[in-house]
Amino acid sequence: MKYELVSGLETHVELSTNTKIFCSCSTEFGGEPNSHCCPVCLGFPGTLPTLNKRAVEYAIMAGLATNCEISNISKMDRKNYFYPDLPKAYQISQFDMPICKNGFIELSNGRKIRINHIHIEEDAGKLVHQNGNTYVDYNRGGVPLIEIVTEPDIRSSEETREYVEKLQLIMKYIGVSDCKMQEGSMRCDVNISVRPEGSEEYGTRTEIKNMNSITFMTKAIEYEYSRQIDVLENGGTITQETLRYNEQDNTTSSMRSKEDADDYRYFRDPDLVTIHVTDEEVDALRRSLPELPHVKRERYIAELGLPEADALQLAKSRAIAEFFEAACEGVANPKVVANCIIGQIFRRMENDDAKEKFEVSIPASYLRDLVLLLDSGKIRMNLLKTTLDKMLDSGKPAAEFLSENDLSGVDSDTLKKYCQEAVAANPNAVADYRAGKEKALKALLGNVMKASRGRADALEAERLLIELISE
Ligand code: ADP
Ligand code: MG
Ligand code: ZN
Repeated sequence: MKYELVSGLETHVELSTNTKIFCSCSTEFGGEPNSHCCPVCLGFPGTLPTLNKRAVEYAIMAGLATNCEISNISKMDRKNYFYPDLPKAYQISQFDMPICKNGFIELSNGRKIRINHIHIEEDAGKLVHQNGNTYVDYNRGGVPLIEIVTEPDIRSSEETREYVEKLQLIMKYIGVSDCKMQEGSMRCDVNISVRPEGSEEYGTRTEIKNMNSITFMTKAIEYEYSRQIDVLENGGTITQETLRYNEQDNTTSSMRSKEDADDYRYFRDPDLVTIHVTDEEVDALRRSLPELPHVKRERYIAELGLPEADALQLAKSRAIAEFFEAACEGVANPKVVANCIIGQIFRRMENDDAKEKFEVSIPASYLRDLVLLLDSGKIRMNLLKTTLDKMLDSGKPAAEFLSENDLSGVDSDTLKKYCQEAVAANPNAVADYRAGKEKALKALLGNVMKASRGRADALEAERLLIELISE
């Protein structure tokens, strides 16, 4: 029998507020264990939480960017469970009245992964296992989180990857989270079931907790998909349970049987007031959102005429996009700017992280001024490239490297002279060209460009060369 994968994700995203959700402690990652703590986030009896307004605004922005409805009224609930990473023995979360509902993220295959809701909650502390002991660090306790919960709409590990990457990109763009999976500021719980192809009903699911790498997520999904099919094919049934993924041998193993909402004894947190959000407040936040990555990408293709691959790379982070757009201002051909960024500038960046941060030694205006010289015919592409490298090396503007002579171009007599010299100096290339080897022309053209130090108009030079050797 053929089986279909059914998967839904619960993604925790740490919000990049400066302070925690219910107190004024720092949210900074790292730091001496238990140095970013106070009686509130340590859960001392008698303390009272105060909700961080910025956290609510960030959650709403995340909802708007993922096509959600924003609730005018929501509230905070207590999710009760006992574990040493949670000093109050309850986590403040949202149960039945989350801040955002009914959104979606669209994948490149046109499928929409529906978002059931986004709720706000506090992060727990971290257990550190060392030398046979377990230590607890509460620095992370009380850091604001949102949990983005999809419907079981995902059908393959590729779709999982794309969904998570899109979500990550959107959250980073709107500035609500840095979504660093290695640092745990984005973590996914992956729910997986299988069903016979064509079936409408969902099978029993398992849940793999706390995945912090997209690659391991896709591996875990594939493993769990085959494992469940094996169980069913051998006449067994799937037990609903919570699993952990073992990176070493790419398997899953049981952590505990699945708890139900009832087990948590959710109830409204009596220490916190109802969250009221007006339509005006939502509209103001909507207006504050930047252009989203997929909209940018489409615009680069439709308005600027860029190839899709270029648009994809330039919209990869806000820093790149902002540099690109600023460098394009008033420029005739944005493709030239795109080439400079994707070629020469990216080449100087060590890895994807560095590309994303996009720290360039020159401001975008320097690149624009350089490309404008090309537009006005003052310099040619070769000279643009060598000058850009010098600019990037030094952080200086084009004017530092281009003399009056460089900018004056090559007049037609001089160009003709260069072409004649090239023909005279390369009888072999000329003979090859006459024998039908069109490529030989490139060698001649190279000579002309060299003689003119890149200032010659390549098209005009090519025309002249052909004229000279065709007689
Ligand atoms: P819970 O409250 O127990 O966590 P939910 O109904 O809220 O359960 O679902 C949690 C996640 O599991 C959601 O992302 C949802 O899409 C996913 N999910 C629910 N049922 C299934 C299923 N049969 N197969 C795969 N994923 C599922
Ligand atoms: Mg769950
Ligand atoms: Zn605190």
